[in-house]
Amino acid sequence: MSEQAATVTSKPNGPYELVARRTYPEYRRTTRCRVVNVAGVAVGTGCPVIIAGPCAVESRDQTLAIARAVKAAGADLLRGGAFKPRTSPYEFQGMGDEGLEILAEARARSGLPVVTEVLDPRDVERVGQVADCLQVGARSMQNFPLLREVGRFGLPVLLKRHWAATLTEWLCAAEYIAVEGNLDILLCERGIRTFTQGDYNRNTLDLNVIPAARRRTILPIIADPSHATGDAAMVPDVARASIGCGVDGLIIEVIADDSQRCRTLCDGPQGILPAELEAIADDARGWCRRPQAKLAPR
Ligand code: PEP
Ligand code: MN
Repeated sequence: MSEQAATVTSKPNGPYELVARRTYPEYRRTTRCRVVNVAGVAVGTGCPVIIAGPCAVESRDQTLAIARAVKAAGADLLRGGAFKPRTSPYEFQGMGDEGLEILAEARARSGLPVVTEVLDPRDVERVGQVADCLQVGARSMQNFPLLREVGRFGLPVLLKRHWAATLTEWLCAAEYIAVEGNLDILLCERGIRTFTQGDYNRNTLDLNVIPAARRRTILPIIADPSHATGDAAMVPDVARASIGCGVDGLIIEVIADDSQRCRTLCDGPQGILPAELEAIADDARGWCRRPQAKLAPR
């Protein structure tokens, strides 16, 4: 056994002990999770939160219109990327700093706290000036310097699972954030790669991982039916299935209206309409096990 493996196995609660349920006697025989306060929105209370917005900030008008629409539809938090992790370097990479300014305005006008992605450890500070929750995307799940940096920064982190990561790898990625002193982590399942990719969906939402993660960790679990399916027509059913499996929230991409689907630079086919979001949000609230707790803003 290598020296490193010996060190890991000597940890009493395994390689991700800070996020492991078995580390905490008060959580051990429960399915409760740690409540994470995202600018006053409590995640993990038993009442699913709705995170919604565009895939990417593409213009001021688009972002403000969608922010207004998702707020009216019942969203708790606004999503939208200013820095986009695109598979090809020739695709739209996001509006960068200008996008951050638009997000700040959308936040002020809608009153919704903002979840936005940070790609580069050197950008954590400037993205963190605007974000209420930093998103680490699927492609960055094992960018260890980035994980440590967002851990040190201290804002809540939404950590997406890579499409080929095991549950253990995902929880070890969360541990990198936790060892820097930040346990305000939301785990996000966004679909894994399977043999059906490109046949009828983009990815396959791993519903099984929701109860499995619940048993292993105290962190809240979010599902992303948008990237999991890649198809707006499938999003409502897959969102409801995730709620049925007990997620603590949904993150969903929205477009303003059908005329925008073809014009959207990033992920247009999977964006649902505000009215569809409203129906999902209403259903999700019906699953609240307890009334949603209100926390003081951070
Ligand atoms: C996104 O949320 O827009 C995104 C790029 O997601 P993922 O990292 O899951 O692909
Ligand atoms: Mn997207």
